[in-house]
Amino acid sequence: MTTRIAIVTGSGRGIGAATARRLAADGMAVAVLDLDEATSAATAKEITDAGGRAIAVSADVSQSDQVEAAVRRVAGELGEPAVLVNNAGVIRDNLLFKMTDDDWDTVVDVHLRGSFLMTRAVQAYMVAQRYGRIVNLSSSSALGNRGQVNYSAAKAGLQGFTKTLAIELGPFGITANAVAPGFIATDMTAATAARLGVGFEDFQKIAAERVPVRRIGQPEDVANTISFLVSEGASFVSGQVIYVAGGPLC
Ligand code: NAP
Repeated sequence: MTTRIAIVTGSGRGIGAATARRLAADGMAVAVLDLDEATSAATAKEITDAGGRAIAVSADVSQSDQVEAAVRRVAGELGEPAVLVNNAGVIRDNLLFKMTDDDWDTVVDVHLRGSFLMTRAVQAYMVAQRYGRIVNLSSSSALGNRGQVNYSAAKAGLQGFTKTLAIELGPFGITANAVAPGFIATDMTAATAARLGVGFEDFQKIAAERVPVRRIGQPEDVANTISFLVSEGASFVSGQVIYVAGGPLC
């Protein structure tokens, strides 16, 4: 079996960290890319301590020069990337009439521009290998969510981005899919609870009552789905959006 090289953005914590750990356990060498060097180093250490192969890479996915340098470094130190998970994300929630230009730009830049820059940089290596797996993190918020015009627009945009990647890159053996999580327990949802003035425990309980499987998601629920989509056996699944939300969404 070829050892595939994977890059997971925003993998210092949360869903990204769980995905990096899972892909390493699946046998991939993983570049743990995050804004924060300390958190990416911690995730990479967890992987290497468990016997896997990983490096920590610090970059802001919304900055073209940093993305180009980070991807070149991964190719030089780990090998040519064949798997990309565009997971880095931020929220700047507010109702439309209170949302600032900066709230809009930051969210669109990290999710949409960041995924574009990362994918453009990595696709050259995938095309050369005639193999690639791309997974973009969308969200149930793509279907609309009060207080998130910026985030829902970006996450809906990523669904269109994914489908176009699938069409353009399919002839080169590259698949592109999106996962759209519902409520997952991470620092991001903890921050939402804090903003609403609700304790995180109560917030999770209330959210779980609305989910058909009667629980909220864990980062590993998303990582498990990504693990399938980036596997060799998923070569005929492309351009899809998979909701990982404990029930149907449409
Ligand atoms: P999280 O715990 O807040 O983690 C996000 C990670 O992204 C952090 O490590 C953060 O780095 C990193 N990041 C932020 N901006 C970045 C940038 N410009 N460049 C590089 N890294 C950056 O979030 P999460 O809940 O795991 O979410 C992961 C993804 O899933 C996001 O795309 C999110 O929108 C999506 N999602 C989450 C949920 C949920 O319920 N949690 C639901 C649907 C979709 P720092 O630590 O340095 O800030």
